[in-house]
Amino acid sequence: MVPPSQSNTIDFDAAKLQRLGFTSSRNLPLKPASLAELRHHLSLQLQTSLDAERILNLFFREVQRLVPLDALAFQQPSHDLRLELGERAPHSAGYRLSHEGEYLGELIFRRRQRFTEDELIQLESLLASLLFPLRNALLYRTALQSALRDPLTDTGNRIAMDQVLQREVDLARRNLQPLSLLMLDIDHFKTINDSHGHALGDQVLKAVAQTLKNQLRNIDMVFRYGGEEFLVILSGTNREGAALVGERLRFAVLELQCLDAGRPIEVSISLGCASLLPGESAESLLRRADNALYVAKREGRNRLSMAG
Ligand code: GH3
Ligand code: MG
Ligand code: MG
Repeated sequence: MVPPSQSNTIDFDAAKLQRLGFTSSRNLPLKPASLAELRHHLSLQLQTSLDAERILNLFFREVQRLVPLDALAFQQPSHDLRLELGERAPHSAGYRLSHEGEYLGELIFRRRQRFTEDELIQLESLLASLLFPLRNALLYRTALQSALRDPLTDTGNRIAMDQVLQREVDLARRNLQPLSLLMLDIDHFKTINDSHGHALGDQVLKAVAQTLKNQLRNIDMVFRYGGEEFLVILSGTNREGAALVGERLRFAVLELQCLDAGRPIEVSISLGCASLLPGESAESLLRRADNALYVAKREGRNRLSMAG
């Protein structure tokens, strides 16, 4: 006979977590708390998330149980993180947060009334509770970002591309905005590799990716689709606009100065362009851009072809 299982199941539903002090309902008025209570509560609350924005939102809300605030601003440029909570007010207390030499960001509390000395001491003490949750959230953010990027070309990878494309198709449909794709592929790249070596091929790939990013307003919309193939997502851009961007990219790549031992390497790209049709899926849009690219290749390369 199978012995009864020794394990117990605990379902930490929302109500239970709330009783244990891990969450509090957004709708309940916040009860005032002493500094010690609040520090204890923050240490529980702030470890419930690895999302920097959520952690700062929680912190902003909870701190007000002790020190009234009108706004909290946070920025950490190297993590591309900028947050403004509440409403701007004239008086401010700013802190540059760092831990053992590691810069974590700039945080500013704002208020209509001046801060008292006591309040500033309390705020500084509460900031200590933010330190480790914030550092962990920044580490997590870095890990997430690198999981979504192609290391060679520093463009988005396929995982990022699938996510962004689906999001942009949904947004375009909801807002009745145009959306276009450019699928592009380096011409005769195998020959470039064969004639100049794989390492130089890599340099050409990097240079092409950089050229694409230099030419575009939103560099986060360039993705490495495959070996020497890229996808550019042009949100808010119709067929004519996308064709112009495509031609601009094609010329910019033609003008690239890639050298092998001082001798120039000719680089060109072929492009397929497709614009979202009413009710069309992301897969279908992508397929049409890919088919158009195939036509551009077949018709002689170094050209742009529009999907029908
Ligand atoms: P086409 O004009 O039809 O696109 O010809 P092509 O030679 O560019 O196309 P093909 O698909 O035959 O070859 C692509 C080559 O790209 C083959 C592959 O070895 C090379 N490649 C893919 N990824 C990389 C990479 O990361 N670095 C380098 N150096 N080469 C790569
Ligand atoms: Mg190619
Ligand atoms: Mg290819």
